Amino acid sequence: MIRKRKWILLTGIAFFLICLRAQAAKPLVLVIDPGHGGENLGAQYEGYTEKDMTLVVAEAMKTELEKYEGVTVYLTHDQDQDMSIKDRAVFAGEKNADFLFCLHFNSSVEHNLFGAEVWVPAGGEFYAKGRSFGLIQMEELTATGLYSRGIKTRLNDRDENYYGILRYCTQEGVPSALIEHCHLDHDKDKPFYQQGEEQLRELGRLDATAAAKYFGLKSELLGVDYSDYPVPETQIPSGLVRPDKTEPELCYIEVTNLNQETGEATVRMEAEDGDSYILYSRYSLDNGNTFSLPEAWPRPEAWDQSAKSHSFTIYLPFDERITLCAQASNGFDVWAQSNTVVIDPIPDPERLRREEAQRQEAMLREAQKNYREISYDQEEPDASSDGVWVIVVIAGIAVCMLFVSFVLAKTIYLLIKGNKKR
Ligand SMILES: [Zn+2]
Repeated sequence: MIRKRKWILLTGIAFFLICLRAQAAKPLVLVIDPGHGGENLGAQYEGYTEKDMTLVVAEAMKTELEKYEGVTVYLTHDQDQDMSIKDRAVFAGEKNADFLFCLHFNSSVEHNLFGAEVWVPAGGEFYAKGRSFGLIQMEELTATGLYSRGIKTRLNDRDENYYGILRYCTQEGVPSALIEHCHLDHDKDKPFYQQGEEQLRELGRLDATAAAKYFGLKSELLGVDYSDYPVPETQIPSGLVRPDKTEPELCYIEVTNLNQETGEATVRMEAEDGDSYILYSRYSLDNGNTFSLPEAWPRPEAWDQSAKSHSFTIYLPFDERITLCAQASNGFDVWAQSNTVVIDPIPDPERLRREEAQRQEAMLREAQKNYREISYDQEEPDASSDGVWVIVVIAGIAVCMLFVSFVLAKTIYLLIKGNKKR
């Protein structure tokens, strides 16, 4: 009886171990979705076409992921072809995928935004998984120098996931994330793809590393083992995780230094948003009518931690009254406007120098003119006095000659008179 019970127990343990082994052996299934394709070109700018770029990245990601053990990788499509968003999610569902990575490149309406972002489903375990993966993915992207625009959710007006691929994948029961690697229409992001396909393949390998870390994969071929990789934990939210629609709570500026000679102003700016970090800042010299291009807000500590304040220098135009203000945006591109600082016109030093030179030149001209006038005034009396002197001398000579003639005449007369007497 005891032997029989022991026999049943051993059989049970063996069955459990076989089941466990079967479970462990179940290969991980990952689906990569190159964004766009066929008629759907995606973003286009200066010769860059998104659908071509995503296909290169996706193929490189697949090749790299296949170097890891225990993973099966599929592309939703490996040719440049049309494929509906729903079909891509259904494909992942049919493959019983553990995750779908949707690869994209971004662009903005005014071509003024830059950086990488990861969009994740807005609720439940799909949010938690998407965000945990997104944190690793963003760590990888920012390590290359890309600027993070965040790991975010977006909802449509029916409170569903805005991005179809996240919405359909959630319906199919497949965790997912949409990766916007960077902007293909901004100079700041160009260094990450402008050298051609090899650079795009590098991004694909980076995506693969993030996925491998998230799933704790190891590869003898690559000599890496991420089985103990500390995947950041994300609490499963009770409801929907909504995007931040409110502007940063703090946005303040002050001018800390103003160089009257160069017009260089040092502006100290403070900005803070409780829900996300600060993304960009920009300034206006005309009370908010026109703005400078958005600049990255500094993150000296970590890629997901924006500084409380920072100082920047701007050059103010001379001879103009400036009404300076600034704006700061949060991760969802919601902008807050600062206080205004009125700066009295700074006189243009070049203009002042020019005017001073002109003034001195005018003074010199005036002085020369006066000198010449004075000279003429003095020469005239000289000339007249010369004339007087000539007249005086001539008169003197005439008087002398008259006197001599008189003496001579008198002497001759006396001589003649004397001779007659004798
Ligand atoms: Zn796209």
